[in-house]
Amino acid sequence: RAQAESGGQVHYFRPEMQEAVRHRVQLEEALKVAIGNDELAVWFQPQVRLTDGTIDAMEALVRWHHPEWGMISPGEFIPVAEQTGQVVAIGDWVLEEALRQMSEWRDAGYQLPRLAVNVAAAQLQRPDWPERVEAALERWSIPPAALELEITEASLLASPNEARAALVRLKEMGVRQAIDDFGTGYSSLAYLKEFPVDTLKIDKAFVDGLPGAEHDHSITEAILAVAGALGQQVVAEGVETTKQADWLREHHVDWAQGFLYYRPMPATELMACLDPTRTT
Ligand code: C2E
Ligand code: MG
Ligand code: MG
Ligand code: MG
Repeated sequence: RAQAESGGQVHYFRPEMQEAVRHRVQLEEALKVAIGNDELAVWFQPQVRLTDGTIDAMEALVRWHHPEWGMISPGEFIPVAEQTGQVVAIGDWVLEEALRQMSEWRDAGYQLPRLAVNVAAAQLQRPDWPERVEAALERWSIPPAALELEITEASLLASPNEARAALVRLKEMGVRQAIDDFGTGYSSLAYLKEFPVDTLKIDKAFVDGLPGAEHDHSITEAILAVAGALGQQVVAEGVETTKQADWLREHHVDWAQGFLYYRPMPATELMACLDPTRTT
């Protein structure tokens, strides 16, 4: 049993805590070489129009394939990368790779849906973040309106002044912004009117309870009312059943993302779902 003394306090570390620390350090070390070793990939998950299933957007989701450990989910390594600051380099890489892929599809004559990319708090806090996004869009000749940045409530509120400045600048450029996992963060509704947000993504936690659970109904209806009043679009996340889709459709939700429609998939598989506009 390890023991450490700091400031007169004695902390006892349980073996499982040491194990967790070791695991974190291992992940951190492995992440340092992941980009250089070509271990990261961007997968895509379509967002569909609930009325007819048309793919209107696709979310870029990072995947990490470690040579020994296999697939590690972003749910596991992104929080570590957020703590170490590595999430900035990962985020840069994801944006670049997703735009590169978009540009490749465009060149091949595909009708492209909008691209949604997740942004971490540390990225948003960089003073040159909007310019970086602008430069990446120009590099790949992608129109700003084809990009939607997904930001969580916690990231916005981590340093609200910087975040607001960045969002206003991006909005001027024509880049769209979404609040990810809406309703699970601090959820002060006041901030919604201060940030130029185009889309609210209703978190899977609420969608899970549709159509049965009364509270999830009420919360989802409240989110829809707020979005409607503020002129924001709504995407329901984690839609897995036709009953959920029916409920959302009846409540005039426009878009859904979930395993009922598509799972996240590699670029080559996604291409088969896109509309070729060129027939030659
Ligand atoms: P998120 O941005 O909220 O992404 C949605 C997550 O829900 C994805 O998990 C997706 O695979 C999953 N999902 C979608 N539909 C369903 C469904 O019907 N059922 C279930 N059970 N899950 C569904 P994924 O890809 O594992 O990513 C987890 C989280 O990791 C993301 O949540 C996001 O917060 C973070 N993440 C992923 N890629 C990036 C990235 O490039 N940058 C940053 N900063 N974070 C990322
Ligand atoms: Mg997201
Ligand atoms: Mg989400
Ligand atoms: Mg999430």
